[in-house]
Amino acid sequence: MKINQHFDELVPNYLFAEIAKRVRDYQTAHPEKDIIRLGIGDVTLPLAPVVVDAMKKGADDLSKKETFKGYPDYEGYEFVRKAISDYYSSFGAKVDADEILISDGAKSDCGNICDIFSGDNVVLVTDPVYPVYVDSNIMAGRKIIYADCNKENNFKAKPDFSVHADIIYLCSPNNPTGSAYTKEELAEWVKYANENDAVILYDSAYEAFISEELPRSIFMIEGARKCAIEFCSLSKTAGFTGTRCGYTVIPKELERDGHNIYKLWYRRQATKFNGVSWPVQCAAAAVFSAEGQEQIKVNLGYYKENARIISQALDELGIYYTGGKNSPYIWLECPKGMSSWEFFDYLLNEANVVGTPGAGFGKNGEGFFRLTSFGDRDKTIEAVRRIKALLS
Ligand code: PLP
Repeated sequence: MKINQHFDELVPNYLFAEIAKRVRDYQTAHPEKDIIRLGIGDVTLPLAPVVVDAMKKGADDLSKKETFKGYPDYEGYEFVRKAISDYYSSFGAKVDADEILISDGAKSDCGNICDIFSGDNVVLVTDPVYPVYVDSNIMAGRKIIYADCNKENNFKAKPDFSVHADIIYLCSPNNPTGSAYTKEELAEWVKYANENDAVILYDSAYEAFISEELPRSIFMIEGARKCAIEFCSLSKTAGFTGTRCGYTVIPKELERDGHNIYKLWYRRQATKFNGVSWPVQCAAAAVFSAEGQEQIKVNLGYYKENARIISQALDELGIYYTGGKNSPYIWLECPKGMSSWEFFDYLLNEANVVGTPGAGFGKNGEGFFRLTSFGDRDKTIEAVRRIKALLS
């Protein structure tokens, strides 16, 4: 037998292992130092009370014969999809409940969607990039091309109409750069996708962090229903990183190569996925209730305020950065011309603050650095004080 040879083409991702090692080594050498982690990519605040109540009630239902549930529908329960459809309406995107499929998160769907497309499609990703898009397509043996994000375009790549791609991954607000596309910028990508008969795979995992007048969904853009699939998640929106629930939206009219894309994805999910548990779907629906929306705003507001505190310090220091406003991520240029890893070591050694070297997200990440707002408020304030003292 042979394994999938494309696994040999994966670039080993040592990023987080290397960060952990350097922090461990430093802490061992300096046990008295109080290290603050501003590189954390996971949420830290608990689920909203109304969400927990719904989950408990869901679990209780499973304990009684009359209310017990077995396998859920492949596409998720209708009341959850209806709640999400109403949520889309609240910010002006028309998405029918029948176009939504509930899943265990955006990561699986962003990767698994590869199953429905041919291996000889050309995939375009923006660089720096969330590694899942790249690695899933390397595993499938696809050719990947990169659209550069840099200081010149404020880390928002525009489509190059002279280059052809079949599958385009976009993430806005972006991980790792925090940059968020405007309607006009997204409209260019939609135009490009429709002209190239391509499909946009739009990751909106951070849409809940948008506070300015920016699109929260690709489906707020004219023409997107003919070329886009959207992936979203409750992970960062409502603290579901450990609970696991997301959703994928495929307009019923989206067709390629003589096939209906919704039907293909439904078939794929029905074959390899058996749905999200009843208590979790109850909890997900509670997120979209009026009370749920009020309650999740508390945690989102906490993270956004952390982001504002970090951004303000960078403004005062005159350091270039993107993100921080409509995103939990702050992507900054390393000062004094340092490389990403030089700055990592400098910050660890001199300020005892840990972030994420941008070089780990692609070639355009070199010389940049990611901080996140998912930490504790007091620790964020203290980390910012130390960074300011070091770089002033
Ligand atoms: N998409 C992006 C851009 C992310 O940054 C993350 C998580 O960090 C995910 C998707 C994963 O979402 P989920 O927890 O729903 O799998």
